[in-house]
Amino acid sequence: MFLSVAWFWFGMVLLKSSLRNFVPYSWEASSEEIARKYGLKVGQIVRMDLNTSPYQPRRWLRSLAAKLPDMPVNLYPDTSYSRFREKVSAYTGLNSDMVLVGNGGDECIMIACQAFLEKGLNAVISSPTYSYFRIAAEINSAEVRLVKRKPDGSDDVDNILQAMDKNTGAIFLCSPNNPTGGTTPIQEIRKIAAEASCPVIVDEAYYEYCGKTAASLLNSYSNIVVVRTLSKAFSLAGARVGYALAAEETINILNKVRPPNSLSIISLALAEKALSQHDQVRKWVQATVEERQKLASNLRSIPGVVVRESEANFLLLTFKNHDAAKIHQKLIERGFVTRHLGNILPNTLRVTVASATANKKFIKTFRSIVEGTEHAV
Ligand code: PMP
Repeated sequence: MFLSVAWFWFGMVLLKSSLRNFVPYSWEASSEEIARKYGLKVGQIVRMDLNTSPYQPRRWLRSLAAKLPDMPVNLYPDTSYSRFREKVSAYTGLNSDMVLVGNGGDECIMIACQAFLEKGLNAVISSPTYSYFRIAAEINSAEVRLVKRKPDGSDDVDNILQAMDKNTGAIFLCSPNNPTGGTTPIQEIRKIAAEASCPVIVDEAYYEYCGKTAASLLNSYSNIVVVRTLSKAFSLAGARVGYALAAEETINILNKVRPPNSLSIISLALAEKALSQHDQVRKWVQATVEERQKLASNLRSIPGVVVRESEANFLLLTFKNHDAAKIHQKLIERGFVTRHLGNILPNTLRVTVASATANKKFIKTFRSIVEGTEHAV
């Protein structure tokens, strides 16, 4: 009787009622935990679960290390992140006033949800997709409307438009989509943005692997927000830097709710360096795309394994005659961490493209597990 109806007891802690059946983000165990559990060395573990880059940006880190003693860590970063926004502007060809900076793409997604969603509004999400869209929408008390993708993984534009109503606060697209790997054609994004009276968030975390972007629509559609990250092609997942692109008036709204200083000056320095090293990034992307093709064709030669076309740095595998959960477990025991998506897509694994050496070892191990000849490894 002392509690407002908006809250309820969760154990000893109060939790808002919109999160009563909330399913939080989940992840695979850390390399340290896996190594301990299965008697492996941490260095043996290959992370193929988080769509990160296998390339360590050593040169950038060395140049950062040389600058560290003089870095003003006693001060806050420039709260408007001007220098980094200028770099993004040069990289994207858009005005720096069209750039929002976030602590990873995730923070940009959360900021968008905080700005556009609330109780009584709904979020339309083309699914299956990156789970954080649903999570950020639910945390902001919105009703989530998942619109099922077509069997080939493409967005069902008609159903997305049908799911929309006057209470729709945001629509989420992901191109290339995690985990299915395909892109949303730009004319479909335009169609949705033209018909929607709410923001359309287009997550382009994997943009560099396909080169397709909705950025050219931003000057005509102020309701499109493109979310990008330096966690994938730029090899900086641990530095936590992302950004969003949108019309200046939309960025102004997002800036109203963003935390003032969520990026460290160390991450910003690395991110600024990364954005000035396009040639290096292009080489990594090219190597990953080539490795993706090799990995896909090798995996397709294994009976019972279906591999989707991908325009990103990961592959989605579906098993005809095997249990994905068991294969996932056996792979972990041998040091290969993949992402089990069982509850989202039945009998599937998402596999991040790793280095050439790691991919070769992975194929050998994977083949022996699927073909039931593990003892040969
Ligand atoms: N969007 C998508 C589609 C992703 O897959 C991920 C990371 N897995 C992110 C955003 C989050 O990226 P960041 O590391 O920049 O928060």
